[in-house]
Amino acid sequence: MKNREQYAGIDWFRIAAALLVVTIHTSPLAGWSAEADFFLTRVLARVAVPYFFMVTGRFVLADYFLSEDFQAGRIGRLGRYLRKILILYVVSILIYLPVGIYAGHYEHLTVGEVCRMLLFDGTFYHLWYFPACIMGVGLVCLFVRLWKIKGAFVAAGALYLFGLFGDSYYGLAVKCPPIALIYKKGFSLWSYTRNGLFMAPVFLLLGACVVSRKKTRRQMGRGQLVIGLLCSFALMTAEAFTLRYFELPRHDSMYVLLVPTGFFLYGLLERGPDGLPGTGWHIPRALHLLYAPRMLRILRLISTGIYILHPGMIVVVRGIAKFSGINSLVENGILHYFCVVLLTVAVVCPAAVLLEFLVKKRSLTQKGSGRSGDADAVCSEQETNGFGISTDRAWIEISRDALQANVAFFRERLPEDCQLMPAVKADAYGHGAVIVARELNRMGVEAFCVACVQEGIELRRAGIQGEILILGYTHPSWFDALRKYRLSQTVLDVAYANALRQYGKKLHVHIGIDTGMHRLGERCEHIEEICRIFDMPNLIVDGMFTHLSADDILGEQEQAFTMGQASRFTAVMDALGARGIECPKIHLQASYGVLNYPELAGDYARVGIALYGVLSTREDTLPWRDELRPVLSLKTRVAAVKEIYAGEPAGYGLAFTAAQTMRLAVLTIGYADGLPRALSDGRGEVLIRGQRAPIVGKVCMDQTLVDVSGLADVRPGDVAVVIGRSGGEEITVCDIAEQTGTITNEILSRLGKRPGRMMI
Ligand SMILES: *Cc1c(COP(=O)(O)O)cnc(C)c1O
Repeated sequence: MKNREQYAGIDWFRIAAALLVVTIHTSPLAGWSAEADFFLTRVLARVAVPYFFMVTGRFVLADYFLSEDFQAGRIGRLGRYLRKILILYVVSILIYLPVGIYAGHYEHLTVGEVCRMLLFDGTFYHLWYFPACIMGVGLVCLFVRLWKIKGAFVAAGALYLFGLFGDSYYGLAVKCPPIALIYKKGFSLWSYTRNGLFMAPVFLLLGACVVSRKKTRRQMGRGQLVIGLLCSFALMTAEAFTLRYFELPRHDSMYVLLVPTGFFLYGLLERGPDGLPGTGWHIPRALHLLYAPRMLRILRLISTGIYILHPGMIVVVRGIAKFSGINSLVENGILHYFCVVLLTVAVVCPAAVLLEFLVKKRSLTQKGSGRSGDADAVCSEQETNGFGISTDRAWIEISRDALQANVAFFRERLPEDCQLMPAVKADAYGHGAVIVARELNRMGVEAFCVACVQEGIELRRAGIQGEILILGYTHPSWFDALRKYRLSQTVLDVAYANALRQYGKKLHVHIGIDTGMHRLGERCEHIEEICRIFDMPNLIVDGMFTHLSADDILGEQEQAFTMGQASRFTAVMDALGARGIECPKIHLQASYGVLNYPELAGDYARVGIALYGVLSTREDTLPWRDELRPVLSLKTRVAAVKEIYAGEPAGYGLAFTAAQTMRLAVLTIGYADGLPRALSDGRGEVLIRGQRAPIVGKVCMDQTLVDVSGLADVRPGDVAVVIGRSGGEEITVCDIAEQTGTITNEILSRLGKRPGRMMI
């Protein structure tokens, strides 16, 4: 599940960008200073449209590239987006048709000119954005399909370069007659090079690559981003004024430094400020509105509305000035600008609110499909869960920074040629397999292991890339799915290898070797059998592995046993080598293996629990406290606060009776959400406003009572932290495992499916 709330900064900046576009068409500072006007409308405001392209790249293309649709060559969700833009374009054309006709734009048009207008220039001056978006998206998809991301950047960059010399650098292009001729020919097809062909692709691609798998600006500090933005914007300003001084521009929408400026600006907004949902900051409730999903949807509608309608409002303001005789409405640039903005906002805001509520109602009545509020326009495709803010009841926050720190720690600890193959089974130990794997994909992780075929399918359907190994048994009725979803299967033993072979089509497998755990795997002494598996015609053996069963305990006996397992595994490899069988990827370490036996690194490390920032017990976790950061927090809300009096019971079965007057808070979480019932009767506690509140009576299926008598000022709606930090206090999953007599793995993997998972 994706959460749009974290992108509040991006949606708010859309409004700023739309208002900047209005300056381009009203020149508010023109009457005051030509330089100031140039700076505002030809430099600063030029950031707006690339910004919109980047947002589209980020929320439309990035997800599309990661989706199964793209892999399979289908249009899928992208089609819906394109259709939406097309509808918007057609509607806008119709809105401006009367104005255009009145202004004489469409007189004596040839077919060629109509095409030029529709495809490149737009039928009214600002409408070029829509065909540019469609064309740019199409081109970028084509480039990425043909040449992958890197090649696509080269192509988009080349197009941008061509565009530059037809725009701000035109004065240089005309110095070379053959080149000038090319541009002249071009300008008979399009009036400007700032269009979908030359300008849009590079920014769309930049936006899409925010979530690309290699290094992203996420790894850049906020400070670096700010410095990058300030420097590139200052240089872009210098670039623009220099070009202007030498009178080189033919038009002034494209600069070399617009690309880095857009990159840093977008990166900064994507990171957003600290203190947004779930970072532990207490944000006044009134401010929650600023990033409520509904507010953000309305913002998107408003920015689109401003973009489309402001030229119409310019016409209206001119009309008013003419008929009322108040000439200053158009002569005073600043007044003109504010009149246009006010009028546009006055029309757009109520319309946006109305549309949001109407559309929301409709989508809920239409059998509450997850796709709500899709009328939001220019960009953005994120879905909310259709039921409003998802932090309303019980939810799980996954810290991207913590996950990243843990990934970095393991990469550091493992040799260069050993890749991470994170275990994302059991919904990534309760963290949310899709959001975790997607984030790991973005961090460059390209192999995963899961417990069963359904888990693999879930990941593929969500567009997860790379190798996915199923560690457990897969019934032959699912063998088709192994192929369809490109999943690798563990060979459990020779008998199972035969079943796989009899399927009759090629399957990718890793051979499991039993070196002493006696769970799955062919026995390590059975070299003949293992060789036979290698020879089976339909099995493509990509790897071979074993699992260490006592690597978590550092007693003498356990260490000896672990080393025995390792040497038996090595013996298998040697025996295979002696028979000329080339050993494919090998792996034997899980979390404890990497921590306790780093020297056993193979080609993969199947890290699970430790990647989530804890180990199975507190004892094991403590020594790694500085290296591993807990990734998950579990939070819930106070539904009600009430007083009960001495002698009154609370909760099921008269299990608790108040000794004196006390205050209880009812929490919206229960054992169905993964809060163990064994925490009942005061064994467990939660944090509210940084203070501990013990559990009272029995944990219910969906609700839990806690004692807040000693806590000041607890109110309905307050957040209660079940796992995680609040103020100076912390409850770790180790605490809960201890209180319930189990290991953290069980607590985490049994978190229910009801709490939404969100990356923060
Ligand atoms: C679960 C599992 C892992 C991951 O184990 P952790 O201890 O959580 O790191 C690795 N390999 C196999 C075979 C597993 O079943």
